Order: sequence, then C-alpha cells, then structure tokens
Amino acid sequence: MTGKIDLHTHTYYSDGVLSPRELVLRAHEVGIKVLSITDHDNIDGLVEADDMAKDFGIEIIPGVELSSTLGTKDIHILGYMFDPSNRKLRDTLSFLKKERLIRAERIVRKLNNMDLPLDFDIVLEHAGMGAVGRPHIAAALVDEGLTRNYSEAFEAYIGESGPAFEPKYKISPEDAVEIIASAGGISTVAHPGWYVSENDLSYLIRAGIDGIEVIHPAHDDNRVRYFRGIASEYFLLESGGSDFHGGKRNDYPNFGTYTIPLDAVQAMKRRLFIQ
Ligand code: AMP
Ligand code: ZN
Ligand code: FE
Ligand code: FE
Repeated sequence: MTGKIDLHTHTYYSDGVLSPRELVLRAHEVGIKVLSITDHDNIDGLVEADDMAKDFGIEIIPGVELSSTLGTKDIHILGYMFDPSNRKLRDTLSFLKKERLIRAERIVRKLNNMDLPLDFDIVLEHAGMGAVGRPHIAAALVDEGLTRNYSEAFEAYIGESGPAFEPKYKISPEDAVEIIASAGGISTVAHPGWYVSENDLSYLIRAGIDGIEVIHPAHDDNRVRYFRGIASEYFLLESGGSDFHGGKRNDYPNFGTYTIPLDAVQAMKRRLFIQ
C-alpha cells in the first residue's frame, strides 16, 4: 500500500471546521489512504465519512478523543478501532455532551456577570453539530469583538485559571481507557509532549493505556525519539497524526505532513486480532 496515514483529525462534530465529507475529500487530495476522525467526545463523523471514503478507497479507522482529568490536568485519550455501536460508549458520549452544554451555559453566565454581553445562542452556533466547548466560546468572544483574539479569550477569561472558567464533568483516564476497551478498542495518550509529565505517563501506563501518540505537530524530533523509546521500553503501540482542525488555526499545512507508517496501524490491529 502506498498512501499516507493520519490517525488524529477533527471535524465540525467537535471543534474542527470541515464536515466529515470535506475532510475525506481533503485527505484524498493530500494522499491520505488511512484516516481516523478523532472528534472530542463524539463519534458522529464516522458514519458520515464512510460513503465518500469508500469512493476514494480510503480506510476509515473508528476513532475518538476523550477528555479525561488527572488532578487538575486535562489528559486527552485517543480511542481506536472500537465498535461504534457499543451501547456503553454511546451512552457515555451522549451524557458527556449534555454535561458540556450545561457547563458552557455556566461559563457564559459568568462572562455575562463580568459585563461581557455574549449570547449563549451565538456560542451554540459556533459549536454547530459539535459538543460545545471553550474553543467555541473563545471563537464567539472574538467574533463578537469582546476579545482581540482567540488566545486572549483564554488568558483573560476562560483559561484554567481565568475568572470565567468552569470545570468539565470529570472522567478519569482509567474510565476513558476502560470505556474504549469495553467497546473493543485500544487507547493511546494524545500529544503527551504538550502537558503530560513523566509521572503522568507512568501513571497512564499503569492504568492500562495501550499506546502513545508519538507523531504530533507539538512533538519535535527529540520528543518523537523520546516517546518512541518509551513505547518500545513498555511494549506500547504508537499512534500519530496531524491533529488537524482547519479554520482559523491555519493548520492546513499539517494535514498530510504528520503521518505514521503502516506498521503502526498493523500493530494496532494485531493487538486486537483484527485481520
Ligand atoms: P474544553 O474541552 O471545552 O475545556 O476545551 C479545551 C480545549 O480548549 C483544548 O483542547 C484546546 O483546544 C483549547 N484550549 C485550552 N486552553 C487553551 C489556551 N490557553 N489557549 C488556547 N486554546 C486553549
Ligand atoms: Zn480539538
Ligand atoms: Fe487533544
Ligand atoms: Fe485533537
């Protein structure tokens, strides 16, 4: 097989900009042959991408990026190759979606109390089909001219130590790993180079994580070597991808650039006894 492999992308079902079909079309254009859509806490993009992926001969790998909490830190857990119709997984995702809605409302109320006249409906428009989150609130604040830019929204208001911050419903990394495993999938820790300490990493390994995301735009060559070393030392799988979102992030050049070798996907399948 020749063709690139990207196992980390987002659509408008979370905080990405493209529809699943638009994403698949773009994947085709940049030479991707194996693609995983890993929306935050959402797997609705999967079905939608299917038809078009078949037309282009692109293999879609079921994926999701679950937000879990370890102490005060957000740890993103990527899930792959699970059964998308698994009841427990679906119930958990719809529960989390409802919780996110309530939490976003609380954040907007705090902003309103700080004399920022942000309308919740505008935030929902930004979220579209996706599970509403702080990226949508930040985008709405920028569009309404209430902050200068996206990062200022986080720094001044909705970042973890910001005055309008509200925590999400918390699931532990163990829960995330367990939910994915019970749906027949494997889990990897997303972009560990971002904020996952060595301690966190060993905690996750003990919690039963199956792999590490080695290739990611946030990882330079040293980081890639480092995480590859850990994966090999602890017999972990390696995942990777562009974490492509599109839109204002201007990460289009990453799509088709951050890819993983076929071996990595084959190793994931072997772990699950998938032919
Ligand atoms: P949420 O899941 O709603 O708490 O939103 C988390 C997302 O917000 C992360 O995945 C990032 O994309 C974004 N985010 C969090 N903190 C910052 C920050 N300081 N600057 C920019 N984006 C951030
Ligand atoms: Zn995202
Ligand atoms: Fe992430
Ligand atoms: Fe992501």
